[in-house]
Amino acid sequence: SLASRLQSAFDKLRGRGKIDEASVNEAMREVRLALLEADVNFKVVKDFVARVKERAIGQDVLKSLTPGQMVIKVVNEELTELMGGNVAKIAVAPKAPTVVMMVGLQGAGKTTTTGKLAKYLQKQNRKPLLVACDIYRPAAIKQLQVLGGQVGAPVFALGDKVSPVEIAKQALEHAKANHLDYVLLDTAGRLHIDEALMDELKQVREVAKPDEILLVVDAMTGQDAVNVADSFNQQLELTGVILTKLDGDTRGGAALSVKAVTGKPIKFAGMGEKLDALEPFHPDRMASRILGMGDVLSLIEKAQEAVDEEKAKQMEKQMRQGEFTFDMFLDSMQQMRKLGPLEDLLGMLPGMNKMKDLKVDEKQLGRTEAIVQSMTKAERANPDLLNANRRKRIAAGSGTTVQEVNRFIKQFEEMKKMMKQFSGMSDKMNKKMNKL
Ligand code: GDP
Ligand code: MG
Repeated sequence: SLASRLQSAFDKLRGRGKIDEASVNEAMREVRLALLEADVNFKVVKDFVARVKERAIGQDVLKSLTPGQMVIKVVNEELTELMGGNVAKIAVAPKAPTVVMMVGLQGAGKTTTTGKLAKYLQKQNRKPLLVACDIYRPAAIKQLQVLGGQVGAPVFALGDKVSPVEIAKQALEHAKANHLDYVLLDTAGRLHIDEALMDELKQVREVAKPDEILLVVDAMTGQDAVNVADSFNQQLELTGVILTKLDGDTRGGAALSVKAVTGKPIKFAGMGEKLDALEPFHPDRMASRILGMGDVLSLIEKAQEAVDEEKAKQMEKQMRQGEFTFDMFLDSMQQMRKLGPLEDLLGMLPGMNKMKDLKVDEKQLGRTEAIVQSMTKAERANPDLLNANRRKRIAAGSGTTVQEVNRFIKQFEEMKKMMKQFSGMSDKMNKKMNKL
């Protein structure tokens, strides 16, 4: 994966007390290859590498105490910048309703994302109206109605005999009359960009005068997603992009190139098929995720939503201090369990992408829990105590094998190391920030 390629490029820099221009160049050569392999646009890669090099070879970095980490920090910052820097918020029209037009190719996730967006807006105390403007795809209207039902948001549909333009027009009137403040137009897509599609979308745009034209693209399609974004942007002047299927096995190329190529920000990321799997796109967090530092902030935010707030705060504090104990591991595993799809969450933990074994199923998780629960308080606080005898006892106590116990402890130590590195970096960044 991109994360592991980048990590191996950086591992060589990380430990060193001193680095020179040659080793920065060498690391950047690997970064360049990793990005290209992840399907990042060629020109974007070229510019990116040039920028990082220029900054990394600067005196400040090479003379700093931990030049390796400084280079990673520069890469992190530049990746963040590449993806737009800040979170791009969804528009609010000065006069309600705000009209959002969802466009994109067939199968990109427009209809699903329209439902997700409605849910997201409701959480912000908005009143969205879903509008069925896709009259071509069989069952598209029904699909939107089902989603609306699940979200508890009204759906405006006029069947498949009325033109999308007319549907949009009447939907706007309906929204005004019913004091709904967001109108989400779910439009049709085709398998490929064609003139008929663009003409229709332009007509809808003409009557609906959208405040947002959001392109929904499938992140899994990599470089294609970027090309699609480029053409839609040229035809329709997008206001933003929603990348879907970022939960899948994407190589990251689309996320990294879209903003640079189109100039339009990624506003949301689709992280799964469920209705709550839509997140505002945070370039800084995505950069950290790509760099394999995990997305601790997203994880904490999720935890705060679903889990007891006190505990989450404590976990955040400890993680920030680079502390990581077996008890914390157990706690976070148990909390995560309440949060739904385990694999999504595991991916957010630093270093987890390295540890495929920990991509556990529920059964495996139960065994892991049992191992920690079979440790004494002292052992949990001090892993050094875990000698062969103790490990044997723990295996017996948890109904596992010594090999399993050994494997888990090893993984735990690796996680702990990653936590330390992560917190070390954020410490440094904080200090630097405080100086400004
Ligand atoms: P449309 O043709 O653009 O309206 O696409 P749909 O909304 O019908 O979605 C096509 C497929 O993609 C459906 O099976 C969705 O469940 C799936 N999908 C949409 N967004 C996501 C996402 O963020 N992650 C995953 N894994 N699947 C998604
Ligand atoms: Mg659809």
